[in-house]
Amino acid sequence: TTLPAEPSTPAVERTLVLVKPDGVRRGLSGEVLRRIEAKGYTLVAVELKQATTELLAAHYAEHEGKPFYQPLVDFMLSGPTLAVVAEGQGVIPGFRSLAGATNPTEAAPGTIRGDLGRDWGLKVQQNLVHGSDSTESAAREIGLWFPGL
Ligand code: UDP
Repeated sequence: TTLPAEPSTPAVERTLVLVKPDGVRRGLSGEVLRRIEAKGYTLVAVELKQATTELLAAHYAEHEGKPFYQPLVDFMLSGPTLAVVAEGQGVIPGFRSLAGATNPTEAAPGTIRGDLGRDWGLKVQQNLVHGSDSTESAAREIGLWFPGL
């Protein structure tokens, strides 16, 4: 018989990380990759991509109709995005911890948004990175950004 895995041993999983156009423009792509690797996660795929309206409509479907939706889409269309698939035990919540709170002013020092982000007084938070928030979102988002993976 096979014993169930220990609860302290989370399954190896994959998450979708995006270095958003502000991060790429500011030359912080390498810094984000460095933090992912320094944490001990593995890079599975890395690609610089220009997002399309269709891709963003699918990626941000849950936010459609919210006041920041159109500014968010316009921001995400404003330049290339570095799309990354990272792998490791607990990488989905783990990368969210590395990223920090959505609002960079509130994000804790030591996090990507806390160390490198700020409020620019815009209609949308330019907060450098995206990370999937659940197993289901990760599978869906990886399928959207890396259809071949
Ligand atoms: N966003 C914003 N204002 C808000 C909420 C969200 O500008 O009040 C933007 C921000 O760029 C955020 C993205 O929309 O990263 C997606 O929002 P979500 O709530 O999914 O935050 P995240 O998971 O990225 O922290």
